[in-house]
Amino acid sequence: MRPYTAADIEAWDLTADVVIAGYGVAGAAAAVEAARAGAEVLVLERAGGWGGAAALAGGFVYLGGGTALQRACGFDDSPEAMAAFLMAAMGPGADQAKVSAYCEGSVAHYDWLVECGVPFKPVFYGEPAWEPAADEGLMYSGGENAHPFDEIAPPAPRGHLPQMENKRTGERGGGYMLMKPLVDTAERLGVEARYGMRIERLVVERDGTVCGVVARTYGERVTVRARRGVVLATGGFTYDEEMLAAHAPRLLGRAGAAVEEHDGIAVKLAQALGAGVAHMDACEVALPMDPQYLIRGMVVNDQGQRFINEDTYPGRIGQAALFQQDDQTFLVLDEEGFEEARRVSAAPEFLQPRPAWVCASASGLAAEMGLPPGALEATLDVYNRHAENGRDPLLHKAARWVRPLRGPLGAVDLRGMTAGFALGGLATGADGEVLHVDGSPIPGLYAAGRATAGIAAWGYASGISLGDGSFFGRRAGRAAARKR
Ligand code: FAD
Repeated sequence: MRPYTAADIEAWDLTADVVIAGYGVAGAAAAVEAARAGAEVLVLERAGGWGGAAALAGGFVYLGGGTALQRACGFDDSPEAMAAFLMAAMGPGADQAKVSAYCEGSVAHYDWLVECGVPFKPVFYGEPAWEPAADEGLMYSGGENAHPFDEIAPPAPRGHLPQMENKRTGERGGGYMLMKPLVDTAERLGVEARYGMRIERLVVERDGTVCGVVARTYGERVTVRARRGVVLATGGFTYDEEMLAAHAPRLLGRAGAAVEEHDGIAVKLAQALGAGVAHMDACEVALPMDPQYLIRGMVVNDQGQRFINEDTYPGRIGQAALFQQDDQTFLVLDEEGFEEARRVSAAPEFLQPRPAWVCASASGLAAEMGLPPGALEATLDVYNRHAENGRDPLLHKAARWVRPLRGPLGAVDLRGMTAGFALGGLATGADGEVLHVDGSPIPGLYAAGRATAGIAAWGYASGISLGDGSFFGRRAGRAAARKR
């Protein structure tokens, strides 16, 4: 992992002004802006083609402040409301400077994506869901309209989705419709890409300035000189077991919502130069279930107790389940709720739950689930007593979703179902400059995307990764293109 010095390099095989490692969302955004700033840009991508996790993603880009799409769908928003939400929901520890820059630049960033050719359909999808049913372009994607955030900031939907017909998550998703126009734009601007090129070392001048990388292709070593700057955009560390064990051990042994190329290389290479890191323990956590079911029931822990309002962002339920309840949770529904959810659900089959236990009474259900005697019954009693009046004074689920649970009850076993990806990474400034542990920029080195600690310091909302990856990727590309 230790850098080579320029004196170690006998000859450079390739040279460009800006060298970008990784052709996912952060790399593509950096490439476009570095090229527009007049730099000769070379992207080195380890896989056989561009895309990374971004091209497989659902495609949410978290934007707001009054984008043209929000306005077309009839929603008011402001950078201040967006920042207030993000500082509350992405923390503790959210980076005020990054959040402010992101919110103030969000409307312009949306326009930039549209100008690059990313299509958004001006239709709002208002149902609880992980993703819209079809190609609708706007959705609530972070619990903005649920407790406690609806009282912290005026709610607005900010999940912006590139339009795609017949989308199939994991195969074809909105993320592809984000990536394709960005890569096409980069190509039109003359960006060169080399595939099957895996960077493995940085190269530094005697004064510590990063001036190139060493990559490997088909077993051969390739030396690449960067006249102006190197941008690391190689993704996170979700597929590096040692790093997970050291920083985010809750994710060990579960499905990683990332690609296997996310092996932490950027963090390791930059740390070897003294780079700082931040929020290495933070994780996005998904619960593979259609929120239409969650919202109509009670989510309880293995003590039979509720711990979160079920109408919030499902990723927040996932985080609370994994980190606060040891991933030992259940969803309790009555027949009416279950049938209604099944009827209105537009989610794919793998997000449709099957109850593991069904019983005529709460006590019988609790006994079959192995919960402490009386615990679930007490939870249900309190829930139903207030639900009669359309209230949830304990956890503040919105009145619209509160109804007494009656008759035969079923429980879905959520234990061990969470999956996710690590959010921590390199400490960077607002222009993508990688920061040394002493807080100063490491000359010549920039980073963006999940290689860095971005907007999400702990919490999460769908669209934050493609959002901060593309936003700060652009800034990193522009900064790296500046002449030394
Ligand atoms: P990537 O987009 O993965 O790009 C990194 C690139 O670097 C890859 O192409 C990789 O091959 C390459 N690379 C790695 N190592 C090297 C190396 N040594 N040398 C050269 N190249 C290298 N986020 C959202 O914001 N909204 C969503 O809706 C969403 N949905 C998701 C759905 C799924 C199924 C998955 C898996 C993820 C989803 N995410 C979503 C997360 C999001 O896709 C990623 O966090 C995001 O793509 C990170 O951007 P990135 O540029 O850092 O990494």
